[in-house]
Amino acid sequence: MSYSDVSHAASPVVTTLEKPNTFSAGVAPAVDRQLVIEGGRILERLHAMAKIGRSPQGGINRLAYSSADVEGRAYVIDLMRAAGLETSIDAAGNILGRREGSDSNLPTLLTGSHVDSVPEGGIYDGTVGVISAIEIAQVLAERELSTRHPLEVIVFQNEEEGLFGSRAICGDLSNRDLDLPSQSGKTIGEGIEYIGGNPRELETARRRPGDIAAYLEYHIEQGPVLENDGIDIGIVEGIVGVNRWEVTIDGFSNHAGTTPMNRRKDALLVAARFIDAVNRIVRDTPGLQVGTIGRIRVLPGAPNVIPGKVILSLDLRDLESARIESLYDEIANAGKQIAATVGATISFKQTSIQVPALTDARVRQAIAEAAVELGLTSKVLRSGAGHDAQAIARIAPMGMIFIPSQEGISHTPEEYSRPADIVNGANVALRTLLKLDALLDR
Ligand SMILES: [Zn+2]
Repeated sequence: MSYSDVSHAASPVVTTLEKPNTFSAGVAPAVDRQLVIEGGRILERLHAMAKIGRSPQGGINRLAYSSADVEGRAYVIDLMRAAGLETSIDAAGNILGRREGSDSNLPTLLTGSHVDSVPEGGIYDGTVGVISAIEIAQVLAERELSTRHPLEVIVFQNEEEGLFGSRAICGDLSNRDLDLPSQSGKTIGEGIEYIGGNPRELETARRRPGDIAAYLEYHIEQGPVLENDGIDIGIVEGIVGVNRWEVTIDGFSNHAGTTPMNRRKDALLVAARFIDAVNRIVRDTPGLQVGTIGRIRVLPGAPNVIPGKVILSLDLRDLESARIESLYDEIANAGKQIAATVGATISFKQTSIQVPALTDARVRQAIAEAAVELGLTSKVLRSGAGHDAQAIARIAPMGMIFIPSQEGISHTPEEYSRPADIVNGANVALRTLLKLDALLDR
C-alpha cells in the first residue's frame, strides 16, 4: 500500500536503528537443496485470484468489505484447507491458517500479507505474499516436514485503508476506528462483522509480546530500486516513519489592481518559495529521506484578489525519527524567514505521526543466507510504503522480503513482477522461515 490514508498516530516504540542482536552468523543449518516450492502452483493461484474483483479495465477491485473481498477471502480459505492448515477467522476479521509445531511450548512463527486492494489495483500487491505463504505450508505438509514452532499463515483484513487487521492484533483499534467509514460504504466495524469477525470482541484477536516468535512478510517492492540495480531479493531494513503537518501561511487579501507590488503580503508567493525550500532542504541533506507538499489551498482563490491565506500539507518520511524532526526544524525556520520577507506569517500544526518500524537483525540475516543458498543476489533497502509488518513490529520481531516491481509501478493494473522473481521470493521465504524455526527461542 501507499501511506495515502494512514493518519494513525502510533506510540513511538522504535526510535533507534539497531535492535538487540543476539544472532551470530552461520548458526542456522543450510536448508536441504531439494526443498523448493512449486512455482507453477503459485502462479496458477495468483492468476485465479486475479479474476476475483477484476474490472473491465483490467484493474483489481477487492476493496475491503466488498463482495469481491469476501470472494477472494473464501478462495484463500479453500487453499489453506487444501494445504492442511486449520483455518479460523479472528474477531478482527483476519484469516488464520495454523499448522502445529513439534514443541507446543514455543510461540508461533507468523507469515502472510493481505488480499484486499486499492480501487483499480494490481494483481500482485499483497496477494503474492499470501499465496506464497500457503504454498510454503503445503510443501511442508507434502514433504511431511515439521517445524518446532507452530506455523501460522495470516491474511490481514483491510490493509489498504490503514492496517486495520494488523493494528487490531496489537490492541490498537479504538471504538473511534470502528466508526470510521471505509470505501466499501460500510464502517470499519460493520465491515469486520461482514467478513466474519466480531468488533465487540476485538480483545480476543490480540497478541502480546512473546506470543509471536517472528513475523515474516513477503511482498512486491512497489518501487524501482531492485529492478534498477538488477537485484533478485530485497531485504527490508525498515518501513519509514511518516510525519505530517498542516502549514498555514497568513498574508493579506487585497485588490489585485490597486495594490502596488511593494505593498503586498502575498501568501501564495510565500508558499511558492516555501515549496522550493522544502525540496532543497530535503535534497541537500545526506540520506534517503523524502519530503512532499501534495496539497495546496489558496484563499480566497480569485484572479483579481491577492491571496491572503494558503494552507499546505507537508509530509516527511525517513527510517529515523530524529532525522525527520531535524528536517522539520530546518524547514520551519526557512518558512519563517521566507514569510518575514513578505510581511506574512507561517504556522505548523502536526496532523499525524507514524513511527519508523525496523526489521529484526536475525530475520534480515536469515533472508540474506537463504538468498545465498539459492544463488540469488540481495540487497538491504527501505520500504517507503506502509505494510502490516510495521504494526506487528510493535509486538514481535519482524522482517520483509521484497522482489522487483517492473518500473517500480504499483497500485495500478500495470503493476507487474516476473514469474521467476515471484518463485524466487517464495523460495527465499520458505528457507527464511525454516532458519528462524531452527534459530529462535533456543
Ligand atoms: Zn500491500
